[in-house]
Amino acid sequence: MRAVHRFTVRAHLPEPLRALGTLAMNLRWTWHPPTQDLFAAVDPEVWSEVGGDPLRLLAEVPAERLMQLAEDEDFLARTRAVDDDLRRYLTMPRWYQQRLGEGAELPASIAYFSMEFGVHEVLPNYSGGLGVLAGDHLKAASDLGVPMIGVGLLYRSGYFRQTLSEEGWQIEHYPVIDPGGLPLELLRDEAGDPVLVRLAMPDDRTLHVRIWKAQVGRVPLLLLDTDLPENDDELRGTTDRLYGGDAEHRMRQEVLAGIGGMRAVRAYCRLTGTPQPEVFHTNEGHAGFLGLERIRELQEDPGLEFDQAVVAVRAGTVFTTHTPVPAGIDRFPVELVRRYFQDDSAEPLLPGVPLDRVLELGAEDNPVMFNMAHMGLRLAQRANGVSELHGKVLRKMFRHLWPGFGVEEVPIRSVTNGVHGPTWSARELGKLLGESEMDSGAGLRGMQPVSDALLWELRCSLRKRLIEQIRRRLRRAWLERGASDLELGWCDSVLDPEVLTIGFARRVPTYKRATLMLRDPERLRSLLLDPQRPVQIVVAGKSHPADEAGKAMIQRIVRFADQADVRHRIVFLPDYDMALARYLVSGCDVWLNNPVRPLEACGTSGMKAALNGVLNLSVRDGWWDEMYDGSNGWAIPTADGVTDPNRRDDLEAAALYELISEHVVPMFYERDADGVPGKWMSMVRHTLATLGPRVQSSRMVREYVDHHYAPAARSVRAVAADGYRGSKEMAEYLAKLRAAWDSVRIASTEMTVLDGGTPLLGGQVEVSAEVDLAGLDPSDVDVEVVVGRVDDSAELHDFVTESMRQTGVGRWRARVTLPHAGPAGYTVRVLPKHPLLSGPAELGKVVLAG
Ligand SMILES: *Cc1c(COP(=O)(O)O)cnc(C)c1O
Repeated sequence: MRAVHRFTVRAHLPEPLRALGTLAMNLRWTWHPPTQDLFAAVDPEVWSEVGGDPLRLLAEVPAERLMQLAEDEDFLARTRAVDDDLRRYLTMPRWYQQRLGEGAELPASIAYFSMEFGVHEVLPNYSGGLGVLAGDHLKAASDLGVPMIGVGLLYRSGYFRQTLSEEGWQIEHYPVIDPGGLPLELLRDEAGDPVLVRLAMPDDRTLHVRIWKAQVGRVPLLLLDTDLPENDDELRGTTDRLYGGDAEHRMRQEVLAGIGGMRAVRAYCRLTGTPQPEVFHTNEGHAGFLGLERIRELQEDPGLEFDQAVVAVRAGTVFTTHTPVPAGIDRFPVELVRRYFQDDSAEPLLPGVPLDRVLELGAEDNPVMFNMAHMGLRLAQRANGVSELHGKVLRKMFRHLWPGFGVEEVPIRSVTNGVHGPTWSARELGKLLGESEMDSGAGLRGMQPVSDALLWELRCSLRKRLIEQIRRRLRRAWLERGASDLELGWCDSVLDPEVLTIGFARRVPTYKRATLMLRDPERLRSLLLDPQRPVQIVVAGKSHPADEAGKAMIQRIVRFADQADVRHRIVFLPDYDMALARYLVSGCDVWLNNPVRPLEACGTSGMKAALNGVLNLSVRDGWWDEMYDGSNGWAIPTADGVTDPNRRDDLEAAALYELISEHVVPMFYERDADGVPGKWMSMVRHTLATLGPRVQSSRMVREYVDHHYAPAARSVRAVAADGYRGSKEMAEYLAKLRAAWDSVRIASTEMTVLDGGTPLLGGQVEVSAEVDLAGLDPSDVDVEVVVGRVDDSAELHDFVTESMRQTGVGRWRARVTLPHAGPAGYTVRVLPKHPLLSGPAELGKVVLAG
């Protein structure tokens, strides 16, 4: 018998235990061990049965037990203490408030948009790294006191749960979640009615949306939900799944996230008296339509024109992209965008926003495609990638949007991702090294007094705990594959707590090459089965449901691991999620990562591992490219430039086997007199001390605040002051530039070598130029000389620039110091200049000599 409707009955808590309800609803418990201990004490058995989920615990614990606790003075005192601690956490000034006290100009609040948020497995609203990153971003913002509001969608089935068929093929399950059973609260208006956001849809339909709020420490996370009877079936399904469905489905989700998300934030701030955000951060381009909604708002009030509104929107938008390849960019058929944003219907989605201008914002080379990344870049004054290497890759990838500029001038920077320390570092480690240090995000400086022996003992106990977990999960997985308990005795002795343990877990797109270790199966087998110094490997990961190649990779690993001679040394665990990730990134000895460089924008699981003293063994891609220092792990050499993917895999796999057998294995098994691997532990210590502080999301969020949010707030205030005078002036300036720019010309240039006529390193040259500004005022532009190295095609590299002085009508001059020896060159260029521009390349406009 199937239920026609699902709902969850919340426990009725006796009055003295009311605080438990509050503590369960604020997700701060997910990174606060004392709160977890308090819940565990309610009923240790039920706590473990429900997998450490406070709401389920409270629903399932017998009423008598609650009555008993309501009279237990010790328990009540403990509850009060934890509750007080939460209150202090929520109200005390923190880093951000300190920065404000020092006079820093910071935004009143920041809205952070993302299609997925991985806060904890109890809220399964994420598929992988992007979502977990977003969750960690909110948690770090909370710890730092950054006034942030998260915005996303609430998926009815979240991402899928993974099991395996008998043949090792991935099977997807979509269990339906009931928001009533999750740590979510419906946003209600003053009258107590649910707040509804409405969006006009094609064919005169309306999408009705309700808003759930999860509380992530100090940060509210608004999740939009369309599963309402007011919507027809199709519209109702808008938030059914994460990354499921066709282009139209995705379009609806992104319209909802961006435009619906903006409307939800507005309603939330109005109702709660929270300051409206000044800065809007879009985590990947999916929520980019939020910029269009803000244009609509600004056209309506204070009545700006489209171009003026764009200036104001750009000033306050930060765009982070995570893809290093054009194929990864989110694009829609223009026809689809047309349907949603048509401006001549009775009730347009964005009244007053002209369709043709919308289409221009997403234009790309292919005239029938609308490019969300291009729109993201055009609507954000500040854009970044997620590691230094990724920033470099992006500048190359989007270079065509800034023609005429040097690739290093492309205004896309990088903020390297980070992970939330209190979430990802094993609490035993925090205890050993000093919990406060962990919480502050300042790193693990407290660890010096701990001996190698103690630290090693801890590493061994974390490995042991992981293996126990693996055995339990492996048995469950085999039962799901159709085995009977009777034949599964071997699962209890899978893996060995004394053996070097290598972990590999992440989503399974082909570029991450989960099967690289299987390149030479016999070589792998001999590593696993070495009689003296074996290694053991644990693998986990989900493949996107539509990615057959990824599923085939999983199957290859499963089939290999199924073989009787190796199954005690290599396992594949299904249903990788944050819970399994926590065991893996703390319990392994080595964390393996071997993507095709440079396709991993950052990668964060290795950072989680580093926080636990797990050593990274990775291709120098993403974060590892900038943080590998020669003694904090190993870099797998890459065959960059080898274009045949087979040969490349051969070369890199061979390098991987060699590293493991010649370096990793010997060091792990080389023991001092007391049985401790001394060299290994010095690498562990070095990793904890040096990577510990750098890989944390608190470092990342501070960087976003200082380098993106604060400058964006200053820009916003500059354009918005005096009734948006800055926006109006800037729009006027842009119009003037547009009219004149194509006629601006550098008629001639001339260079004289000073001091004797021979160009010498460090010597000076004088460059003069005749420039026709086509009616622009000299104060509207910067005329610059550019001097640097030249290559065979006369392309300038490593250049320096110097502004030129006007010396007469149309005449400009400057002296520059020659920066390099060897083949050199110079040119002269005209650039837009305006105090509201964030940099010379911002507008992508330049006139070059010649
Ligand atoms: C951290 C994490 C990821 C991301 O791992 P990468 O190394 O960045 O690919 C994916 N899934 C889960 C569950 C995670 O916790």
